[in-house]
Amino acid sequence: AKERGRNNFQFFTPELNKLADERLDLATAMRFGLEQNEFSVVYQPKVDRHRRIVGVEALARWHSASCGSVGPDRFIPMAEETGLIGEITERVLRQAFHAATQWSPVQGRALTLAVNLSAKLFLADDLVPRVAGWLADSGLPPQRVELEITESVFLDDSERAISVLQAFKALGFRVAMDDFGTGYSSLSYLRHLPLDTVKIDRSLITDMEFDEDVAMIAQAMVGLCRNLRKTVVAEGVENPAQFALLCAHGCEEFQGYLFAKPLTAEALRSLLARHQGS
Ligand code: C2E
Ligand code: CA
Ligand code: CA
Ligand code: CA
Repeated sequence: AKERGRNNFQFFTPELNKLADERLDLATAMRFGLEQNEFSVVYQPKVDRHRRIVGVEALARWHSASCGSVGPDRFIPMAEETGLIGEITERVLRQAFHAATQWSPVQGRALTLAVNLSAKLFLADDLVPRVAGWLADSGLPPQRVELEITESVFLDDSERAISVLQAFKALGFRVAMDDFGTGYSSLSYLRHLPLDTVKIDRSLITDMEFDEDVAMIAQAMVGLCRNLRKTVVAEGVENPAQFALLCAHGCEEFQGYLFAKPLTAEALRSLLARHQGS
């Protein structure tokens, strides 16, 4: 039995070690990357039904000297595990707040800036004053900032999460529910949350064209959100058929490759300058 136990141990060790090593490498690279300023921000426009830009979402990017380009779907969860998410969020938000002060209005309307807040960070006790401090340093008014959160924020301690939301609202921030339609919650809870905006998840938008049930769910969501007087944003709109269907259902705002991919700060500024000229 002893012999077998040892063999099992030897069998699993290299595999586990390899996994552990990879994670350690990524975490080390991330610390180094923060020191070396390897994290940057790209900006994806959000449009209205006339395809006019009404806002922009800030999305984090990481070009690591040792690991190459690492996508946020990989490094955000890792940052949440290692506790580096706070520092990455500070970098991203400070950069984005500053960038947004330089955007020219589109047809007289100032653009909103949407930023993502990790659920892991949301219940940290100093989140509200920290975000407010970064914003104050930039000079951007809170009314131009929309904080995107996901349903998972409400899983642990929903009452506390609601009070954090209310604190942000009291300071003038807008709040959006991100990736809506992917969780397990009932639609009715939306009524109790101080949300300005609901973003319907890309997976629903993608399947809508091919699956009548999904199309009906998406249509019902748009209708419900509008009745609750929330702005509805469809994310991941990739083709004109999806756009037309969503317009017909009463969706008001759209984000996706059909309109624009995430852009560097510089590319966004020149896009906005061209818009202003027309
Ligand atoms: P998300 O917040 O749902 O952001 C939208 C994602 O969809 C972005 O991926 C965007 O590039 C992508 N996208 C937009 N339009 C289309 C489209 O038409 N088709 C397709 N296929 N994709 C589209 P990205 O930039 O890779 O970010 C992935 C996720 O990583 C984000 O999903 C968000 O959850 C997270 N993330 C990104 N930046 C940050 C950040 O600064 N902080 C936090 N906490 N999370 C972030
Ligand atoms: Ca988002
Ligand atoms: Ca989303
Ligand atoms: Ca998503």
